[in-house]
Amino acid sequence: MVSQQTQEKYAELALRTGVNLQKGQALMINAPIEGADFTKLVVRKAYEIGAKDVHINWVDDELTLLKYENAPDEVITDYPEWKVKLHDSFVEDGAAVLNIRSTNPDLLKDIDPSRVAKANKAAAEAMVNFRKYTMNDKIPWSIISIPSGDWAQKIFPDKSKEEAVESLWEAILKIVRVDQDNPIAAWEAHNETLKTAREVLNEKNYKKLIFKAPGTNLEMELPQGHLWKGGSAVAETGVTFNPNMPTEEVFSMPHKYGVNGTVASTKPLNYGGSLIDNFSLTFKDGKVVDFKAEQGEEVLKHLLDSDEGARRLGEIALVPDESPVSQSGLVFYNTLFDENASCHIALGKAYPTNLKGGSAMDLETLDKHGVNDSLIHVDFMIGSNKMDIDGVKADGTTEAVFRNGTWSLNVKGE
Ligand code: ZN
Ligand code: ZN
Repeated sequence: MVSQQTQEKYAELALRTGVNLQKGQALMINAPIEGADFTKLVVRKAYEIGAKDVHINWVDDELTLLKYENAPDEVITDYPEWKVKLHDSFVEDGAAVLNIRSTNPDLLKDIDPSRVAKANKAAAEAMVNFRKYTMNDKIPWSIISIPSGDWAQKIFPDKSKEEAVESLWEAILKIVRVDQDNPIAAWEAHNETLKTAREVLNEKNYKKLIFKAPGTNLEMELPQGHLWKGGSAVAETGVTFNPNMPTEEVFSMPHKYGVNGTVASTKPLNYGGSLIDNFSLTFKDGKVVDFKAEQGEEVLKHLLDSDEGARRLGEIALVPDESPVSQSGLVFYNTLFDENASCHIALGKAYPTNLKGGSAMDLETLDKHGVNDSLIHVDFMIGSNKMDIDGVKADGTTEAVFRNGTWSLNVKGE
């Protein structure tokens, strides 16, 4: 069993390094009922740090599934006003938001994908104000994960539920550096490494990236004024926080009209409880004009048809193959982990913070700069140890950025 002491270290890391909770600040937590013990540890620590209020939104896979199986369409597609108000009232008060995740990747596999797509869309539409707060870093927010029995057994199918949960705890704690003596210091050093890498890329200011791997031959323009981000972020209040734990990526945005060629996925994508696997997308002038998938093609179609911007890209992230997630050798069927094992791109909305001055621009101005907008933002993996990436500079010269899935560019700034 993972000791109480280790779980406390993780809780402390989530609050100090994750959302960087401040004295007198409120905290909203989304957490699974199966993880109630760990969540209560987090709450206790939050009050110790000086939180003025901690509010939990409990979620439960079984209850979610029961609703999808039984509730009429109009309930599924009607996101409750009170939920919107609840979220808005916390972020408008400057609260921190911590998401504790443990979702079973197969939860909704037998539910009609169009129902899931409609529900996701309704939620995204209703939560537009809340999302403005998180996607523009107006408030500190963070996502961490803990094991659940179903998720753990998806990753370790040959183990008993108990053993699988134990193995997943070990894997997670190692990946988020809680196995180290001082995880908070380890994260400071890690953030420094990511900061240097993003500074090197910002200095290079590539006009275009070219990706080559089995099944992939893709040219991607980057907008003028694009910014590479990665590691910790700074909220409007000046507080440094870590949106994702783990995080191993440096990321920016593709030009929404400047992507051409074909890209193949390298890991399964878990979208709203359904898996899409072995798929490829073909782009022309930034838009997906063709696609296929060995598994979940119908789900992929619904995803691409979510709205106008769902067929265009909102993120490009570079992750070297030696990342601890990749080295674990596990497929997590969970984007938060799998995206940190591999270079990835996202369909849908771009982070306005990836463009100089982007946070202050309206949608029309963002569009003129090549920044994509959508209700969705769905990451999927395209990297492997077979991926090469070239960077094309403004003067037309080309240089190697990645070879065989890892940096060939010197990103250590020496
Ligand atoms: Zn990413
Ligand atoms: Zn993303």
